[in-house]
Amino acid sequence: MASPDSNGGVPAAESRARIQRIVEQEDIELIRFLWVDHNSVTRGKAVSRQALPGRMDSGIGLARSRQASSLLDLGQPVPGFDAVGEVRLVPDPDSFVRLPHAPGSAAMLCDLLTVDGDPWDACPRTFLKEALAAAGEYQVVAAFEPEFTLCSTQPSPGVLDLFDDSLCFDNEGFDAADSYTVDLLRALRFQGLTVETYHPEFGAGQHEMTLRHAPALRAADNYVWQRATTRGTARRKGLWATFAPVPAPGMRGNGNHAHLSLWQPGQDGRPPVNLFADPSDELGLSTLARHFIGGLLAHLPGLTALTNASVNSYHRLRPGMWAGAFGAYGLDNREAAIRIPTRLRGDETGSTNVEVKICDSTANPYLALGALIHAGMDGIRRGLDPGEPLHADPNRLSADELRRLGVTALPRTLEEAVDALERDEFLMSVLGPARAALYPAIKRADVRDMKELGSDSEYFTHAVRF
Ligand code: GLU
Ligand code: MG
Repeated sequence: MASPDSNGGVPAAESRARIQRIVEQEDIELIRFLWVDHNSVTRGKAVSRQALPGRMDSGIGLARSRQASSLLDLGQPVPGFDAVGEVRLVPDPDSFVRLPHAPGSAAMLCDLLTVDGDPWDACPRTFLKEALAAAGEYQVVAAFEPEFTLCSTQPSPGVLDLFDDSLCFDNEGFDAADSYTVDLLRALRFQGLTVETYHPEFGAGQHEMTLRHAPALRAADNYVWQRATTRGTARRKGLWATFAPVPAPGMRGNGNHAHLSLWQPGQDGRPPVNLFADPSDELGLSTLARHFIGGLLAHLPGLTALTNASVNSYHRLRPGMWAGAFGAYGLDNREAAIRIPTRLRGDETGSTNVEVKICDSTANPYLALGALIHAGMDGIRRGLDPGEPLHADPNRLSADELRRLGVTALPRTLEEAVDALERDEFLMSVLGPARAALYPAIKRADVRDMKELGSDSEYFTHAVRF
């Protein structure tokens, strides 16, 4: 992995012609125009094959207030988000994929634009684009590392029928899920996604498949397809896959760690350079990377609302879960919110990156990645020092020792996280007024609704929605 994978991206004009060819040659009838809402639910509308060429630019109309929906699909009373007003779902041709689990259908990811065709300030994908613009000359490379739980049947309240009870990395687990995982791998490869690794994870029914890192927007899009195809392939085989952080009480958590690095793009035949790498450093990190980490640590409590975005997230974000519940960074420290993975031998420079462990799959990938980039860039701008890395397992340290080492506490509930986000003036200002009003309102509604539903229904709701 010397340089980031482009996953076969082609110029827009060319990809339009390619899309039309594929649609006709492969008898695709329905093309979904999708976006990911504030709760990380992928939603959309679709056009027929005949309507596609006309809709590539004009898009499909959508009520503005859809972006004010809670997890229970209840519109929140945010000014400007009521029964009046439209935006447009306009597809990015570079994101086109066929859907092997739904033959005859294809899909693209969309930006939400105003009716005049301008970027809309409540669009999550636009937020990531803004963060990439704020990164200036740096190319941001990213990858998500989602874990999921495979079930034999669709969950019902109080019941999660796990597909296998294999141990972590258990060869029996590979066998138990082989027919599913091989179908999934084929489907992802067919979609142009490059899978790096797969393994049965720690908990019963838990699995993990990672995609190759890519430029950040592409990495977020790839993750959306991976999640959809993982769930769709399961559904087609009569199974159920859930990315909920903790789909049933007492289970190990499903993380979705985010990996980030800043690169100098390749120029005049020269290959791209990973600016996070410094071979002479003890952790292999450059000063730039350390400042980036300093920014992440400085904004960690507020970031949590965007990376651990559901009530359910906080069953996972706890000590002992290897979810990174301690506000610190460390080399291969799986309890630190930010892990520095040891470099791969033979590719020391290329494999240097920063892993944000706290992230889970209820986070909108565009908002989470965008906020992480903004926070890291803030650290670079202000030259923030992340302090010493945490070498010890924080579970073995006393409260006094943790304090002395500068290990901070993270929010313990979604409510605390939203409070921290609202206190973080920098994050609120980069979100912009629309998102800064919508996001806390939606999350506070989820907190209220989940409390009312009670524990069984809360786990169930997350196990089916994610
Ligand atoms: N399942 C853990 C989590 O929730 C991660 C385990 C690991 O892969 O280190 O993040
Ligand atoms: Mg894992």
